[in-house]
Amino acid sequence: MLPQVFVTNSADETIALGAQLAPSLRDARIVLLRGDLGAGKTTLVKGIAEAFQAAAQDDVTSPTFTLVHEYRGPERTLYHIDLYRIDTERELATLGLEDISNEEGSLLLIEWGEKFERLLQLRDIEIVLERTGENSRKLTLTSAN
Ligand code: ADP
Ligand code: MG
Repeated sequence: MLPQVFVTNSADETIALGAQLAPSLRDARIVLLRGDLGAGKTTLVKGIAEAFQAAAQDDVTSPTFTLVHEYRGPERTLYHIDLYRIDTERELATLGLEDISNEEGSLLLIEWGEKFERLLQLRDIEIVLERTGENSRKLTLTSAN
């Protein structure tokens, strides 16, 4: 599938885009969210989680220190994961992401997952976020298959 490109001009627009993109993630298990700090990865998850009825947008916060947040919806359980502070395969293994991704109905939304080759291999969808201005972002969604 060709990459889909979107532009947003506020955090709220990115949240709305996350909700709009949620149906495209229905068949995915592993979604990588790529972009610098402040690009809007966590903001996008707010909209995705709300669309899956898994969490209210205000309840979605950065898992930078907690590493994994779990949001249970009626159809899917979302795992919002931040690997910014994870540096080795060994540390990664302690998170048990493989087990989580094998759970029925799990959907992993991973920030900084591209640090690990294996996650790059396993990804179903990648969303790249680029800061193009103080409040503007370019988002590119690519499907792996
Ligand atoms: P990341 O998870 O990529 O580090 P966050 O989503 O935590 O980024 O933070 C994005 C920051 O940028 C927030 O403070 C948000 O309010 C701000 N922002 C400004 N414009 C946008 C936009 N168009 N989309 C997303 N976030 C935006
Ligand atoms: Mg984040």
